[in-house]
Amino acid sequence: MHSPVRAFGHVNGEPLFIESAEGSRLIDADGEAYIDFCMAFGPLILGHRHPDVAAAVHEAIDNGWSYGTAERWSLELAELISRELPWAEQIRFVNSGTEAVMAAIRLARAATGRQRLLKFNGCYHGHADSVLIEAGSGMTGQAASAGIPVSVSMDTLVANLDDANRLADIFASHGDEIAAAIIEPLPANHGLLPQTATFLEELARLCREHGTLLIFDEVISGFRTGFGGCAELFGIEPDLVTWGKIIGGGLPVGAYAGRAELMQRIAPVGDVYQAGTLSANPIAMRAGLTTLGILRDCKIYQQLEALGSILETALQDIGHVALVRHGSVFWVCLTSEQQNFRHPGSIPASHETGFKACFDSLLANNIYVAPSPWEVSFLSAAHTEADVRAYAGALQSFG
Ligand code: PMP
Repeated sequence: MHSPVRAFGHVNGEPLFIESAEGSRLIDADGEAYIDFCMAFGPLILGHRHPDVAAAVHEAIDNGWSYGTAERWSLELAELISRELPWAEQIRFVNSGTEAVMAAIRLARAATGRQRLLKFNGCYHGHADSVLIEAGSGMTGQAASAGIPVSVSMDTLVANLDDANRLADIFASHGDEIAAAIIEPLPANHGLLPQTATFLEELARLCREHGTLLIFDEVISGFRTGFGGCAELFGIEPDLVTWGKIIGGGLPVGAYAGRAELMQRIAPVGDVYQAGTLSANPIAMRAGLTTLGILRDCKIYQQLEALGSILETALQDIGHVALVRHGSVFWVCLTSEQQNFRHPGSIPASHETGFKACFDSLLANNIYVAPSPWEVSFLSAAHTEADVRAYAGALQSFG
């Protein structure tokens, strides 16, 4: 396997081998079809093999697939985004969310002349050294992987989600050392832990007060909670934003963006180095351009919200699960207690212990979700009411 969660380690199983995909379905090597609620971990908001995206990719291939020089598709994609999100004045394309985060952090360090970073326990920002740190709520985090130099982890402070007092304490003692605070404004990598507007506003305020740059990592929430992601939803303009997943329509793309004055620090105009052989690859750019064009012009978000509320109603009477949903992102917690989940500590142990049995039961009903208790699920424009009801039915019969 080329990425750990795919390996089915959390569910002690063998991964499905997929031969093809269409709409809301995955088809495995035995010809078995599954309703897919993992959707490649988020990029496929239009579903598998959307015909317009497929046509754009085919057309791109017919014209050559890597030029290593300027082309117009990345400019069109950047312009489309900047028109809708005027605070994202300049955009740089990279190849993954991890790369986008790495570069945004370097830029923040250069712009502030500070070294430290603040992240939140339970938020994932890709696998760069400085963010692969999450343990507990100590002042500096412990690396979540072998091979991360202590000198790097010492520079990452870890705060708790939904804990404004602790956050204020950290800023009071270290505010003038922190280059950037990075957060998933809709934390979706340890279950789904929606934050209150008050908490995010307080974070933005503390950042402003201490000259710390605010980075919204919208790799999942960008173009998902609405075209403008959480920045638009909460009316908070981050200094920098990182995107991935949907921005490439299912091809490898990441991006970071912000005010021109900041972005101009990046080479070749500025002194912050960041480069990529395959960055702004024409195939990926056209997949992204087509996907974002559809999201801007069609009523996809309303359609997804309607489908999400059907799911919500269908799960309402199932006593052994609690649904957390934001538009087309959802997470089902295996617990009979309905509550607000706002930080990792609020998730009961029953969820992790029960997950394997639930996953197996869904799979036996030809429903595929990510093989980990901590991954969220996604609805796409290709899912139907019948798909959602099949999911609810399978959950009902489990447990
Ligand atoms: N940030 C967030 C919020 C993510 O969810 C992810 C990936 N799931 C990343 C960054 C890293 O993106 P990638 O896997 O494309 O490197």
